[in-house]
Amino acid sequence: MAWDFSTEPEFQEQLDWVEQFCRTEIEPLDLVFPGAAYSRDPKARALADPLKQQVKDRGLWALFLDRELGGPGFGQLKLALLNEVLGRYRSAPVVFGTAAPDTGNMEMLAAYGTEEQKRRWLYPLMNQEIFSAYSMTEPQGGSDPSLFQTHATRDDNHWIINGEKWFTSAGARADIIFVMCTNGMFVVPGDAPGVEIMEYPQLHNHIRYNDVRVPADHLLGPEDGAKVLAQRRLGGGRIHHAMRTVAQVKLAFDMMCERALSRESHGKTIADHQMVQEAIAESYAEISMLRLLVLWTAWTIDNSSTREARTQIAACKYTCAKVLREVSYRALHIMGSLGTTNLTPLQAMWASAPTMAILDGVDEVHKVTVARNVLKGYQPHPGLWPSEYIPAKREEARKKYADLLAADPDLAAWADHAARAMARGH
Ligand SMILES: Cc1cc2nc3c(=O)[nH]c(=O)nc-3n(C[C@H](O)[C@H](O)[C@H](O)COP(=O)(O)OP(=O)(O)OC[C@H]3O[C@@H](n4cnc5c(N)ncnc54)[C@H](O)[C@@H]3O)c2cc1C
Repeated sequence: MAWDFSTEPEFQEQLDWVEQFCRTEIEPLDLVFPGAAYSRDPKARALADPLKQQVKDRGLWALFLDRELGGPGFGQLKLALLNEVLGRYRSAPVVFGTAAPDTGNMEMLAAYGTEEQKRRWLYPLMNQEIFSAYSMTEPQGGSDPSLFQTHATRDDNHWIINGEKWFTSAGARADIIFVMCTNGMFVVPGDAPGVEIMEYPQLHNHIRYNDVRVPADHLLGPEDGAKVLAQRRLGGGRIHHAMRTVAQVKLAFDMMCERALSRESHGKTIADHQMVQEAIAESYAEISMLRLLVLWTAWTIDNSSTREARTQIAACKYTCAKVLREVSYRALHIMGSLGTTNLTPLQAMWASAPTMAILDGVDEVHKVTVARNVLKGYQPHPGLWPSEYIPAKREEARKKYADLLAADPDLAAWADHAARAMARGH
């Protein structure tokens, strides 16, 4: 009977180490030197690099990559369990080599790159010697790739890229940018002539690509293959966001429970007030549902593929946004005035909930995916009545007892009487 919710003891040991490491090493670094883990400043790097080395020594570096793609091959389920810890600490994904947007870009490179492309970009990205960005969304609309216009024109041994992209996270500091064009996915050096970074927004950049010339071997995967590569990239990214969201909502829940037991109002702790209990009970159930959905999805990916799991991944994407919104709001509310400040993580967490419903595809689009895929498993009912229409089902079922009903009029009358009573609601 293979239906097991336990974690292998050897991996649990790793998780325990990760939890302790995050608490004693990463959290203090985040509090005193925020941003050091992803800084290029040599002094900041000197603080973070030894931590990254400890992760590598432990065999936990770049865990999201399968063995054949150059990673340790732990799979998505173990990654989900690990992310339940990492997602609580701001720098942890960088210190463990699993930070977006590099992870998705590395997945694309690992899956579609030539040996030369991997040597040039994948291994330096894995070692965080370089950083990357992903340019897909365009100012005129992000939810519908058929509206994208950025295009590459072949010119002898080069491609010339023209277009405009919007909300390219960390685009301004990227060494390489993966640019989705209408006719392919291209790797563009961040400092290539013609890459124009607009002043706003500052973290997620608005970029113009003006006659940007890249060598022919900067096309990643097949010509016209950008949508397939993008799906590969985003599928992984979405489930990783959901995994880290589980960590966030668990943090909110811990804060909610601690606070409920610590404050008094009207003669009792607020934990003894039923409306606070309801908030705790609802949050507990919602977090458990999200966690199981995420773990089941991760397990499905491990046992089939990202493609096979796409309906579940889409469901994870909008469910994690919803649970984040609900639970972080309740925790913030129970924290009272303190919850509205930025002196705890709750205000930022709640503010991030709308973002979660937009990044990597808006909720509506994922809901459409789920509904469409789920509906493929159904048929319209053939006649006037739905297949669960009880009188029709009963008529069908009576055929099974036809001989008995014909032979015993009392029993037939009893059955008729019972059917009428049922229809009246008895
Ligand atoms: C924090 C963050 C980081 C991001 N990083 C990157 C990045 O690195 N690279 C990148 O390329 N992009 C990035 N994005 C952009 C992101 O992919 C887009 O924001 C997203 O695809 C939605 O596009 P849009 O913002 O143009 O919204 P729109 O497409 O304009 O949608 C706006 C609203 O219209 C409605 N809507 C749209 N389509 C439908 C539909 N089919 N059915 C029903 N309603 C619909 C929804 O209410 C939706 O919220 C990032 C976004 C965020 C928030």
